[in-house]
Amino acid sequence: MKALITGGAGFIGSHLADTLLAQGEEVFILDDLSTGSVENIEHLQQHPRFHYFFDTIMNRFLLAELIDRADIVFHLAAAVGVRLIVESPVRTIETNVKGTEHVLEYAAKKKKTVVIASSSEVYGKGSQVPFREEDDLVLGPTTKGRWSYACSKALDEFLALAYWKEKGCPTIVVRFFNTVGPRQTGEYGMVLPRFVSQALTGKPITVYGTGQQSRCFTWVGDLVQAVVQLAKHPQAVGEIFNIGGTEEISIRDLAFLVKDITGSRSEVTFIPYEQAYEEGFEDMQRRVPSIEKIQNLIGYKPSLDVVGIVSRVTEYFQKKGSETC
Ligand code: UDP
Repeated sequence: MKALITGGAGFIGSHLADTLLAQGEEVFILDDLSTGSVENIEHLQQHPRFHYFFDTIMNRFLLAELIDRADIVFHLAAAVGVRLIVESPVRTIETNVKGTEHVLEYAAKKKKTVVIASSSEVYGKGSQVPFREEDDLVLGPTTKGRWSYACSKALDEFLALAYWKEKGCPTIVVRFFNTVGPRQTGEYGMVLPRFVSQALTGKPITVYGTGQQSRCFTWVGDLVQAVVQLAKHPQAVGEIFNIGGTEEISIRDLAFLVKDITGSRSEVTFIPYEQAYEEGFEDMQRRVPSIEKIQNLIGYKPSLDVVGIVSRVTEYFQKKGSETC
């Protein structure tokens, strides 16, 4: 099988490339390195079944050609990270909406299967956890920049489902919940790499708000295995799946867990949201996936608990030499 991964030099995309190559597939990646990095794919450069194209998904000619050559497309190229979204809203909306439009347009012409990476962010301020795929999406006002990401991803989902219904292009939507693991950087705001890196360099561990907000962290290895299984499952087409860990932890507890596991002397500090992001910033209080649907279809089960996840991420940063956040 020939697989195209848009955003393949990113944190998740590069792990997906590893998994597909290990399964004997041929992998093409298209990435403009806007948030991805060559470091993530350096180990693959000499691989005979790996091909890297340094360009943006806005290059319609190259995108069309690569889709033509591929049997399946994993569309991961997107503007991600709450900090990036708040700071660069135009880029977020344009990349996420136009990019997906291009991918679906060309894939539909050739009836290629497309896996669209969406996000748990689409559930927005919903308070009925766990979140099920059919739940209402509760988004904040358009005056609050953060919601542009959820809205752009929701539009991607509508498009994906419409291309399946109206044009018969096989699409699968996957909603990722706070995915973490090696190669993720704290540069775009993601909490776990930031905390681990802060702890290992003796800097204050910065909890935003009260720290009572909670998340479920998803081990990247589990996530990419699940994505590949879904991509090859005929009953996944035209469907949406949550992919996430199920162990809920508050951000405050996460900070102390990181401090404990790293053996750090860093202090845990609390920073108001308006200082961390922008005036009027809205956060989600809880975000917990229902994994019933994906469990029923492919037997998905998270392999690591949060202690295991933090330990592995710590080992990664220790090996790499802690970067500054
Ligand atoms: N967060 C934090 N300190 C940081 C970065 C993030 O307390 O240095 C919080 C953030 O406000 C949110 C949670 O950690 O409540 C998860 O943030 P992240 O950006 O990783 O993902 P999100 O769930 O917001 O998409």
